[in-house]
Amino acid sequence: MKTSFLSFLAFCLMMISCGQTSGNDDTNYDLWIKNAQVIDGTGADSYTAQVLILDGEIVKIEKDTEKQFSAKEEIDAEGKILSPGFIDTHAHGDPLETPEFKNFLAMGVTTITLGQDGYSPKKKDLSGWMKEVDSVNPGVNIAMFVGHNTIRRLSGVNYEKFPSEKGLEEMKNLLKKAFDNGIFGMTTGLEYNPGSFSEKEELEELAKVVGENDGLIMSHIRNEDDSEVGNSIRELLNQGKCTPVHVSHLKSVYGKGQDRGREILKLLDSAKNEGIQITADLYPYNASYTGIAIVFPEWAKKPNDFEEVVATRKSELQEFLRYKIEQRNGPEATLIGSGKFAGKNLKEISEELNKPFEDVLIEDIGPYGAGGAYFIMDEGLQKTLVQSDLVNICSDGSPSMRHPRGYGSFPKIIETYVNKDKLFSLEKAIYKMTGLAAKTMKLENRGLLKEGYRADLLLFDPKEIEETATYEKPHQLAKGFDGVWINGKRAAQNGKFAEGRFGEMLRKD
Ligand SMILES: [Zn+2]
Repeated sequence: MKTSFLSFLAFCLMMISCGQTSGNDDTNYDLWIKNAQVIDGTGADSYTAQVLILDGEIVKIEKDTEKQFSAKEEIDAEGKILSPGFIDTHAHGDPLETPEFKNFLAMGVTTITLGQDGYSPKKKDLSGWMKEVDSVNPGVNIAMFVGHNTIRRLSGVNYEKFPSEKGLEEMKNLLKKAFDNGIFGMTTGLEYNPGSFSEKEELEELAKVVGENDGLIMSHIRNEDDSEVGNSIRELLNQGKCTPVHVSHLKSVYGKGQDRGREILKLLDSAKNEGIQITADLYPYNASYTGIAIVFPEWAKKPNDFEEVVATRKSELQEFLRYKIEQRNGPEATLIGSGKFAGKNLKEISEELNKPFEDVLIEDIGPYGAGGAYFIMDEGLQKTLVQSDLVNICSDGSPSMRHPRGYGSFPKIIETYVNKDKLFSLEKAIYKMTGLAAKTMKLENRGLLKEGYRADLLLFDPKEIEETATYEKPHQLAKGFDGVWINGKRAAQNGKFAEGRFGEMLRKD
């Protein structure tokens, strides 16, 4: 009786509200964007419409371009694309240090995903840190993941290969607690410490917790070398039996050619056909960037003592490094990005110091002495991967990293992959940078230009989009976005930034 009365009441209210909007709309909107060419983020063809924003929300999309409205601000978007803001599923940076995140805003990114590669802030309870981020008002929205490596450390499991029952229980509790605080999932960084010590059973147990909490595992897989990438993806697919899984920055180190790209995609597609929810992201460059430890063998890294390794196994280490670097396209393909050799490649440093590059690595840099860009990817292979419908775009960049991807990934997709190379349509590119990313992360009310969704929006002429960052000058802001709105507020406009910051720390229910 009570419910039927309530539904009758709801019906009446609906009739009243419909009555209002079908006649004259006397709402005073915050923003009225006229004549926009809408690309809605679903991959569907663009269409012309007027878009109305109120209280940070897209409240109306009107295809009748003659219809009049009243609003505090009006913009004529004739000839321009209006799309959802880009979502970066793999980003780096500290919102408490650089809350502006201008590098992301300038390239149209309105939401970034932090806590990557197995590392999140080292807090047993993330809620305090998240509240601190709330209080600084980040420049972009932030979705958090908790890192598996961090959980290993916080639980005291650290470098143990097989955690004790108590250790595993503690890891699961930390993971559950992170979900209670609104994270979107767990990242693993199995190529890094101490995640590299973990085995199948532990990862499965944790995957179950992620699944129970409707989360996602994003993984920097165990080994991205061409000979190992298949096994590493299979290892992740095993966790995919318990929860959706996602390969971070999909690549094959020193693999070559389109056919090899297709083989890797086949592995993802067949898992998908078997019912595993698998996706991946990718940044559009042929060089990776990470700590130089990536070229050193396990036995020369923590918890082992590097000095002792050099004292006792130097020739073995020299041989390992020589082979590893040659396999990774030689010393000229390793560009040092931090420390005293920043900006020089390993070949140049070796000539300057007049010693073999492996000795430079051992004697002058060491496994923790620098970060670097490594030109180890093949254009044909990567361009095959990026076209898959399972692959969205990420930057894997930060405001400070010495790699152009942190300033240019998203514009490069439009400028090079759409306009120049015609790899796919602009609609598909936008889908890969918005709707697909949101769907993968289960981000609610973002990633599409749709009524009821948050007003994270971009206005631009695709011909004007320009990536200006280079390997030599990686910190140059992208150009071409006429408007970047976050939660309904204009955060950037033609290279100028608003005084305020309008991003939010997002929390998953
Ligand atoms: Zn990574």
